[in-house]
Amino acid sequence: MLSKSLVKKFEEILGQGGYFTKPEDTMCYSYDAFSAEPVQPDIVVKPKNEEQIKQIITLCKNENIPLVTRGAGTNLSGGTVPVKKGCVLLTTGLNKILEINENDMYAVVEAGVVTANLANAAVKNGLFYPPDPGSMNISTIGGNVAENAGGLRGLKYGVTKDYLMGVNFFDMDGNYVKGGGKTVKLVTGFNLPGLMVSSEGLLGVMTKFVLKLIPKPKFSRSMLVIYDDIIKACETVSEIIAAKILPATLELLDNFTIKTVEDATKIGLPTAADALLLIELDGHEGQVMDDFEVVKKICENLKGNIKIAETVEDKNRLWEARRKALSSLARLKPTLILEDATVVRSKIPGMMRAIQDITKKYNLTIGTFGHAGDGNLHPTILTDKRDKDEMLRVEKAIDEIFAKALELEGTLSGEHGVGFAKAKYLEMEVGRGTIEYMKKLKKGVDPYNLLNPQKMGL
Ligand SMILES: Cc1cc2nc3c(=O)[nH]c(=O)nc-3n(C[C@H](O)[C@H](O)[C@H](O)COP(=O)(O)OP(=O)(O)OC[C@H]3O[C@@H](n4cnc5c(N)ncnc54)[C@H](O)[C@@H]3O)c2cc1C
Repeated sequence: MLSKSLVKKFEEILGQGGYFTKPEDTMCYSYDAFSAEPVQPDIVVKPKNEEQIKQIITLCKNENIPLVTRGAGTNLSGGTVPVKKGCVLLTTGLNKILEINENDMYAVVEAGVVTANLANAAVKNGLFYPPDPGSMNISTIGGNVAENAGGLRGLKYGVTKDYLMGVNFFDMDGNYVKGGGKTVKLVTGFNLPGLMVSSEGLLGVMTKFVLKLIPKPKFSRSMLVIYDDIIKACETVSEIIAAKILPATLELLDNFTIKTVEDATKIGLPTAADALLLIELDGHEGQVMDDFEVVKKICENLKGNIKIAETVEDKNRLWEARRKALSSLARLKPTLILEDATVVRSKIPGMMRAIQDITKKYNLTIGTFGHAGDGNLHPTILTDKRDKDEMLRVEKAIDEIFAKALELEGTLSGEHGVGFAKAKYLEMEVGRGTIEYMKKLKKGVDPYNLLNPQKMGL
């Protein structure tokens, strides 16, 4: 708990209403979308501008107060849980789109801008901002950069890092750092935007970004492909990529997820299917139609039954089905553990088989969906953390999922980050040398370990 005189210092920076300390007000900042024990911060601050952020950082540094930056709190790795209490800094007060430049095709935005607001503003100006995490209606650009968020379009269009041209941030000394800028080419100094991608709030408080925009594709074709064997659906994914075709979207839903989404949404999904692929091809009409013929052949060879989305409403229904997967599964049990182990794309069938075997071995309820085209599956474990016996089996299952992903030349996390959820596994993937290097980097910019302490095990 902070002393009255210390709280007064925050008030001098932010004014009344710019911070809160009452437990009933700070409670909802004690957790995020990852299922973990909540930890209540001492104070939550909502600055309105960069000057206030600089002063808060200086105050936290001088008073040795841990500082956790928070956008919308939708991360799935415990990244915003203030494990050492202290101050949670909300970026949602910095929510302006400062510029959409049609001619040079970039946007300048503040850290708290909601992802969908930027995407919509780009479309209004005839442009396209592709990164579209399932949470885009609430997630912030700051959180997207700090987690390198991906989305349904990652396969063809890449993830947040592929659109980050520039970033401004404060380090823990209150220095204002500018990395990158508005030009397509820029090699003055270290690649700081690259460093801040996936930094999970450990290296600075980001305030402003320059993001690349691209021309909007002119034509698209979306389809649903129904399978009575999920392994065949996974083989279809590997074969489409091997045929050198990059759909804008290539998503998978298993039978458990299909039934759960249908139950929650009544969209009209085929609940008897063992798996569904949702595929969208986009680009120039001629190219899309040529690619479609190849995709159709691959699907048919693997016994997939194709249904084309003929209208905009049909298309929207398909994407709604995918976007509702997580929230539909979340209705079933008190605890949801969503993993995002990712493998090289040719190994997707092997990963799927392993998830099926692990589900049976530990007698768990796991729904699997995800960005199959990126090799990024989301085995989602539905459980109840009060059930100690089941939780032991859940832990063992997670260990085996991670081990399998690494064996298949993959990674522990394709998009959800490390936070504290995956901290204990990190060394398994990257090795001791990498951990030591990250520690040195962190110590250099934050010697008292005040910025989001204990995340990534640092
Ligand atoms: C229903 C649902 C669907 C999702 N779908 C996807 C998906 O498809 N793809 C995907 O990649 N993720 C997905 N996510 C995860 C999550 O939405 C993303 O990680 C998102 O980028 C988090 O944004 P946020 O604003 O909520 O960040 P927060 O959760 O608030 O913060 C995330 C991390 O970023 C840091 N941070 C935030 N802002 C700043 C800043 N300005 N400066 C420095 N550090 C900062 C925080 O300290 C924290 O470590 C999903 C989550 C949910 C709940």
